[in-house]
Amino acid sequence: MYKPSNKIISIYLVIGILWILISDRSFAYFGFYGDTVLFQTLKGIGFIVASGFLFWIMLRRYENKNQKYLNRLKNITEELTLSNKRYTVVTKATNNIIWDWDFKKNKVSWGESLTKIFGYPNLENHSTWWTDKIHPEDKERVAQKFNTFIESSNKEKWSDEYRIITESGSIRHIYDRGYLLFNKKGKPIRMIGSLEDISERKINEEQLKELNLQINKRVEELAVSNAELEQFAYIASHDLQEPLRMITRFLSEIQRKYSDNLDDKGKEYIHYAVDGAHRMRNLILDLLEYSRVGKFDQTIETIDLNILIEEVTNYHEAFIKESNAVIKWNHLPAIKNRKTPIQLVFQNLISNALKYHSPSEPPKIEITHQDLEDHWLFSVKDNGIGIDPMFSEKIFIIFQRLHAKHEYSGTGIGLAICKKIIEAQGGKIWVESEEGQGSTFCFTVSK
Ligand code: ADP
Repeated sequence: MYKPSNKIISIYLVIGILWILISDRSFAYFGFYGDTVLFQTLKGIGFIVASGFLFWIMLRRYENKNQKYLNRLKNITEELTLSNKRYTVVTKATNNIIWDWDFKKNKVSWGESLTKIFGYPNLENHSTWWTDKIHPEDKERVAQKFNTFIESSNKEKWSDEYRIITESGSIRHIYDRGYLLFNKKGKPIRMIGSLEDISERKINEEQLKELNLQINKRVEELAVSNAELEQFAYIASHDLQEPLRMITRFLSEIQRKYSDNLDDKGKEYIHYAVDGAHRMRNLILDLLEYSRVGKFDQTIETIDLNILIEEVTNYHEAFIKESNAVIKWNHLPAIKNRKTPIQLVFQNLISNALKYHSPSEPPKIEITHQDLEDHWLFSVKDNGIGIDPMFSEKIFIIFQRLHAKHEYSGTGIGLAICKKIIEAQGGKIWVESEEGQGSTFCFTVSK
């Protein structure tokens, strides 16, 4: 509350004394003088009225000031109550444990979630609870970091991660952070912060780390075994060719020179043996080709796919004419890639689309593309015999075929090569088909 200040009282006293001393002379100066009782009484009344009026003005001023002061006080109290309420609600609503440490009284108030998370009963004002329950392996490190923070009177926040032992003895991982509050002299007097239980996150992180390690190990193992397999396939197929050539040659010699001495059964056996040797040679050549896929040391260039498809269809010119096949494509893009693998993919898909055509109608093949954000999607669609969806994965495995040799020629390597090429570039290849409904082979190529 405001009170009339000493200054104003002094001024009033000075005016009063001056009035007594100089009022008579002043009145005389203006021609009003008299020592009659009436004059003196009127002068006295004048003083009382004037001073009363002065008092009245002063009091009004103080009353106004007082009212303003009271209003401000009321607002501050309301704000305080509100922010206190907010603080209490936050401590209840949050999953974090809000803490408030008064350095002077050395008292800590803990939010309500403390019991919920750690199982300890109400620890209001229990200042040592925190340090007692920190995991022994973390205690010293946390204390050191915390003390350094306090000593430096850092205005920034303090934060740390550590473990706390709950009442049931289990371990929780905590992320703790706090802010210092200072008095006017800059001395820290209070710290407010929150404990966050990050155990789930920690466990997930650990599991993820473990998983990553395992994946990396598997990737390394796979890379090694892949390289070994490729080397094996290459050496085996390369070295097998010579003995196989010998077998074929000598069997052909027997067939040529001794056919007169062989009966029909003998001739039949030799025929099968030669045929088997030929098939084995083809398989070995395919294996050799497959093991070489991915070792294209060509540089990356811009490939106009319209020209590339033109070249591919030229290989099949004779068959296209003979079967009245139609191959359509429309404004295919120019892509940046190595030419040989891309050509191999289109070549295999187009030749399959021609080969597995329907017996009742000429082959119709359509090559389309879609420009997707970071990759191209190509598709080769035919109106051929189609594939039962249950085989849509199997056909991409090396040497897996759905038909006997006498039905459709081939060794079952074409799609395996396509898959190896596309996946080596990070793309995907798949088929959408139904038996008797034609097939659409799709694959993606990154831009
Ligand atoms: P190949 O043609 O030598 O048998 P591929 O790896 O190219 O080997 O194909 C594997 C199998 O997938 C084929 O045997 C065939 O059964 C099936 N296939 C491939 N392309 C088509 C197609 N366009 N239509 C129907 N079946 C197909």
